Amino acid sequence: MPDFKYLFGPVPSRRFGLSLGVDLVPHKTCTLDCIFCEVGPTTHRTLSRKEYVPTEAVLKELADWFALNLKADFITVTGSGEPTLHTRFGDVLAAIRTQGRGRPHAGVRSALLTNSTLLHLPEVRTAAALADVVKVSLSAWDLASFAAITRPHADLSFDCLVDGLRKFRQDFSGELWMEVFIVPGLNALRSQVEAIAALTRTIRPDRLQLNTAVRPTAQQNVPSLSESQLHSLAGCFAPAAEVIARFVPGAAPMHDLPRRSALAEPGSRSGSRRADKAAVLAMLQRRPCTAEDVAHAFALSREEIETMARELIAEHAVRKEVRNGETYYVGG
Ligand code: SF4
Repeated sequence: MPDFKYLFGPVPSRRFGLSLGVDLVPHKTCTLDCIFCEVGPTTHRTLSRKEYVPTEAVLKELADWFALNLKADFITVTGSGEPTLHTRFGDVLAAIRTQGRGRPHAGVRSALLTNSTLLHLPEVRTAAALADVVKVSLSAWDLASFAAITRPHADLSFDCLVDGLRKFRQDFSGELWMEVFIVPGLNALRSQVEAIAALTRTIRPDRLQLNTAVRPTAQQNVPSLSESQLHSLAGCFAPAAEVIARFVPGAAPMHDLPRRSALAEPGSRSGSRRADKAAVLAMLQRRPCTAEDVAHAFALSREEIETMARELIAEHAVRKEVRNGETYYVGG
């Protein structure tokens, strides 16, 4: 396996199956500083769009990855910040489409994971429309709730964000998925969720997904709802939202995880893949994971992952955090 700098995974994702990530901005460069962010506190809150990482280097890594004929269900433009801050993220989406064609695993689709804050810009909407799936976020119903939950850059306007989402939906023929993140005390009252649901009806996403803080978050002790409370709120949306928060420790729903063979086919090049510490660390820097999560992603035993995690903790690259009775490894 080449030593990739901008690609990470593929890792099992509940929504995207086996997902290869593409990281286009430095760690926690974002327009928001969401209290529930799993990547950690935002260190560079900005609205400045630029070529944060060299596009040609990202395209070269993608070409190298495709040349290996490895398997992924999705290539997700995402990472540890807001990818639409990168001025050439559209070139990356276009390359995924072009290079995926005619390959043995040509079924791979592209996804853009964005916080929606820059979709009011026509050039961002044009580039985002190159993705097969765009997953956006909307967890507020007005500027005050938006500010409390996402701690946005001072120049961001909530009305502008919603307007950008509506315009994008009008032009985008791909799948638009919308995540609503529920935080008790901020947006979990039924009246508040109904206000968010009313906004979502004006945007008409193809899928609506409810989430809550199950893993460690940027702000300590962000409360979460129970699974049954989320299911009750899902009925506020039309059609009803899916509950995507994972409540069973260490066990993502089976339909959301790739079969082990997808990661380690005996005799195949992917079968010879060995999780090294750098790859595990890259995963943990983007999302807190349990030992089971990592073991599943790399088709290794829990004991092997725990040994690796102990070494990373000793090197101060990773720390342990307990959330909802479950131990997570957190990178960074
Ligand atoms: S959750 Fe996403 S949008 Fe919010 S701070 Fe983290 S990276 Fe940025």
